[in-house]
Amino acid sequence: MLSLVTVLTLALQQSVADTSPFRALALPAPSRTRGAAGMPGPEYWQQRADYVIRATLDTGRQILTGSEHIHYVNHSPDSLAFVWVQIEQNIFAPNSITYALDQPPLAFAGGALFDFTGKGFVGGITIDRFQAAGRALKRTEYGTMMRVELATPLGPGRAIDFDVAWHFPVPPYGGGRMGRIGSRLYEIGQWYPRMTVYDDVRGWNPLPYIGAGEFYHEYGDYDVTLTLPAGFLVAATGTVLNPLMVWTPEQRARLVRARSSTKGMAIVTSAEATANGARRTPGTKTWHFTAHRVRDFAWAASPDYRWDASGWHGILVQTFYRPSATPWEEANRMARFTIQHFSETWGTYPWPQATTVEGLIEGMEYPMITFVPSLPKREDQFWVLMHEFGHEWFPMMVGSDERRYPWMDEGFNTFIDYGATEGYFAGTAYGDTVRRELLTAYAASAVPGREQPMIDKPVEQRDLAWAAYQKPALMLTVLRDAVLGRETFQRAMREYVRRWAFKHPQPADFFRTIENIAGKDLDWFWREWVYTTARLDQAVDSVGTRGDTTLVYLSNRAQMVLPLTLELRYADGTRETRAYPIEMWNLGSRFTARVASGKQVVGATVDPKLVYPDSDRGNNSWGR
Ligand SMILES: [Zn+2]
Repeated sequence: MLSLVTVLTLALQQSVADTSPFRALALPAPSRTRGAAGMPGPEYWQQRADYVIRATLDTGRQILTGSEHIHYVNHSPDSLAFVWVQIEQNIFAPNSITYALDQPPLAFAGGALFDFTGKGFVGGITIDRFQAAGRALKRTEYGTMMRVELATPLGPGRAIDFDVAWHFPVPPYGGGRMGRIGSRLYEIGQWYPRMTVYDDVRGWNPLPYIGAGEFYHEYGDYDVTLTLPAGFLVAATGTVLNPLMVWTPEQRARLVRARSSTKGMAIVTSAEATANGARRTPGTKTWHFTAHRVRDFAWAASPDYRWDASGWHGILVQTFYRPSATPWEEANRMARFTIQHFSETWGTYPWPQATTVEGLIEGMEYPMITFVPSLPKREDQFWVLMHEFGHEWFPMMVGSDERRYPWMDEGFNTFIDYGATEGYFAGTAYGDTVRRELLTAYAASAVPGREQPMIDKPVEQRDLAWAAYQKPALMLTVLRDAVLGRETFQRAMREYVRRWAFKHPQPADFFRTIENIAGKDLDWFWREWVYTTARLDQAVDSVGTRGDTTLVYLSNRAQMVLPLTLELRYADGTRETRAYPIEMWNLGSRFTARVASGKQVVGATVDPKLVYPDSDRGNNSWGR
């Protein structure tokens, strides 16, 4: 039987152990599919979904009608009695979760509002046919998700071909991700029924599409045929297969020159765009696109587009915009810089073309194509255009689960965005200081009691701009600048991209990759930043002397631990910076730095370069 004293002692030890920042993080055990070192295991598998889609846009009735052939390959070790299919147009159906909740717009980074509804538009998709081997399959719709029963279970290694037909009314405003301007401009995403991911972690991933959580898709090849009014110019994921049918000889000749041009060249000039827009062209035209190894397909169309193009290392960089859009003449330069910068820094862009389209969407990414608005301020224009292209790396290439972990795509992307912006605007006040926004955002958003851990799902986040964008970008900045150092961080991050390109990484795969390459146990770091809202408060408590030695009494006053940088100022005017490793906090929350230089210490400051989100800077310095 334990004595009362023993119980109290144990309780005390327990509470010390509970508050230790260094206890191990409970990650899923490594497996044959996901290895202990963070790489895909020898038995890693993922499903494959190839699509052949034929769609026709009726700009009079505003109806998009399609037929679709899905070739689905079961690489899992499981037999599948049913499949889950995403039918995301149902976010605009009257009984959607979004409409039932009267989903309010999401306040975003101070001023902006993100409205994920159709702003009162009532639509939704009608599935006209869903068959396999000529037989209709029983299906049950759950809003934006549909379960389809297979006639016989699909065994491991087996494939099935679905024959699908559907139609839906095109919303004018499609939840900030798709839509149209009258019948002059269409930006189309979330449009065709597509396979939900089946993975080794959760099996099916049928989380509903409510708005804030984006996508989690299988990779595959696409063959897409789009029939539109003949006067429209179409931009899409993929490569045009029938250039002779859809482009003029002049456009084709200009494209050849643009491919090897470092500067954006007009494929459709401003005058031509204006003339095209005014012309009545009867009939329809059919565009044929193919895309290899992508996780989605989107497109845009208008009779009014100007079209610029340039090339970088064989990649065609394209910008489509209306003559009224400014500053879109610079957009091609911005786009080309972005594709080059991200390729050189994080791994080469893997597709033949990169397109950005100006229109009503405030910023949205799809493979090889992004939707970006015209913004009056050049810095903002670059940021949004570049940010959407950053998504070609996270999550188009590194295919993480955005419906659960937006910090792994929006967040990683926002981090790399700061590097691109520092590059494009190098030498300007904006370029040299832009990353400081992250500490400003910390002060505004990391409010105790209100802040949520970034591991919470996007639809649960009240401050998505912070939890999914800025905080993870700050996390990686601190990891790079204060924990790993640039070279190690860069190598680890690039390796993460390389290992998980065209695959489905989970948080643990990222953590393990970074830790293995850095040679550091970072459980404490991930717990603080990803799983909790721990705050940092490093302090200089006081300074004393013992003989020739100056004693600088340091403390860690909040829950978050980080290595400590101490700047000492001496009476003779010199300064010295000392770095203390994270292990200092193994010894407790107080630490005494001993300075035996013989010189008189007149000042001591922690985090002198203002790298950390220190919640109380008032206690960071001692002396003058
Ligand atoms: Zn984004």
